[in-house]
Amino acid sequence: MLDFDLTEEQKALQKMARDFAEKEIRPIAEKLDKSQNLLQDFPWEMIKKADALGLRTIALPEEYGGPGYDLRTWVVLIDELSYPDVACAKILTQCWKGARRLAEQGTKAQKDRYLTAFRDDPTYLLGGARTEPGSGSDNQLPYEAPNAGVMLTAQRQGDHYVLNGRKHFISNSPVAKMLVVTARVDKTVGGVAGSRSFIVPTDTPGFKVASVHDKTGFRMYLQGELDFDNVKVPVENLLEKEGGRGGAEGVASKVELAAHAMTLARAALDAAIKYANERIQGGQAIIHHQAVAMDIAEMYQVLHAGRTLLWRLAWAGDTGQADPALMHSTKVFCTEAALKICLTAMEIFGGSGVMRELPMQKYVRDAMVFQHMDGTQQINRIKVGRILATRFNQEGRLSR
Ligand SMILES: Cc1cc2nc3c(=O)[nH]c(=O)nc-3n(C[C@H](O)[C@H](O)[C@H](O)COP(=O)(O)OP(=O)(O)OC[C@H]3O[C@@H](n4cnc5c(N)ncnc54)[C@H](O)[C@@H]3O)c2cc1C
Repeated sequence: MLDFDLTEEQKALQKMARDFAEKEIRPIAEKLDKSQNLLQDFPWEMIKKADALGLRTIALPEEYGGPGYDLRTWVVLIDELSYPDVACAKILTQCWKGARRLAEQGTKAQKDRYLTAFRDDPTYLLGGARTEPGSGSDNQLPYEAPNAGVMLTAQRQGDHYVLNGRKHFISNSPVAKMLVVTARVDKTVGGVAGSRSFIVPTDTPGFKVASVHDKTGFRMYLQGELDFDNVKVPVENLLEKEGGRGGAEGVASKVELAAHAMTLARAALDAAIKYANERIQGGQAIIHHQAVAMDIAEMYQVLHAGRTLLWRLAWAGDTGQADPALMHSTKVFCTEAALKICLTAMEIFGGSGVMRELPMQKYVRDAMVFQHMDGTQQINRIKVGRILATRFNQEGRLSR
């Protein structure tokens, strides 16, 4: 049964995450957003304090010393952590995805080695590297021609694979200690059949962060451009089980991203209501002008439609019923809803909406970045269209 009540444990976690976010993230958020030296200003102290509360390792399974929280608990935590600054929270939740993926797809030896290393080092951050300068949507949809897909090669040489090539836009990579890297093992076939994923510690010789990308929003959530120059990884680092984007890995990724988007939207709506209550024009607070009140009502409706969809997807993921069409739709709906809500909130702020000293312009910049993460909106929509067409043809109607 789909239940919206929080457990006592979730309520306690919610309070802990809220206190942490207000005490440790809010005071640094604005400075980090304006950083001129992203690597130098990276919030390591915040990460260590989060780790001390278990907020870096919540996805670790119990046998590796973590709580292995379900996706609904992820949503509850993100809803607090992301409220003052989505970028800081995303650094942590990227590790939740990475740990969950390794727990689901790794061998026992891989988990013993890498999940333990991750657990024991408060500064051990994780990332996943698929995208390349020449391969973006092609490895999402994918376009299955031998000359498309990831081109970073992994060549078997004895008991090692040797990786050569370049990745870009890879989250957490400039500060991560381990990445799961998708590489091409066979260029004579399409990308899915010809690619495999490898665990790559970032201190492996030949691995280099060539540059740190500078974005308009989400600024302290760092992406790197990565060079692999004869990076040797042992064959034991090959991930045997590929989860695939429609599987368990996919649902966690979509829930996580949509949860951040909805939290950002909630923060923007709260700011807009506060401003509309305080700003007097035409002799009264602007919230009493019908046009503003209608905007706020619509923002509220869209926010709660998105939050309900998100909770349903998290529940489906937790109960093994994740439907890929719902996954991609939730990502698109929630991230577009966030942008729409942030833009409307900016309108309500009038000229103050674009002033640097107020947070509204930051909300809009952050909301814009969501549109391109975990596949573009077009690509996610195309996937939904394909799934529904196949399902309709098989079942004669859409029963789910
Ligand atoms: C902040 C951020 C964080 C990211 N983090 C990671 C990460 O951690 N790991 C990782 O591997 N990647 C990451 N990415 C990369 C992200 O997944 C890609 O940006 C995304 O897949 C799109 O690829 P692209 O930017 O090359 O765009 P392109 O693929 O070049 O697309 C350009 C445009 O063409 C459209 N298009 C392309 N192909 C088709 C098609 N076949 N049919 C219809 N339309 C099409 C797209 O929808 C888009 O509008 C991140 C990106 C951002 C912005």
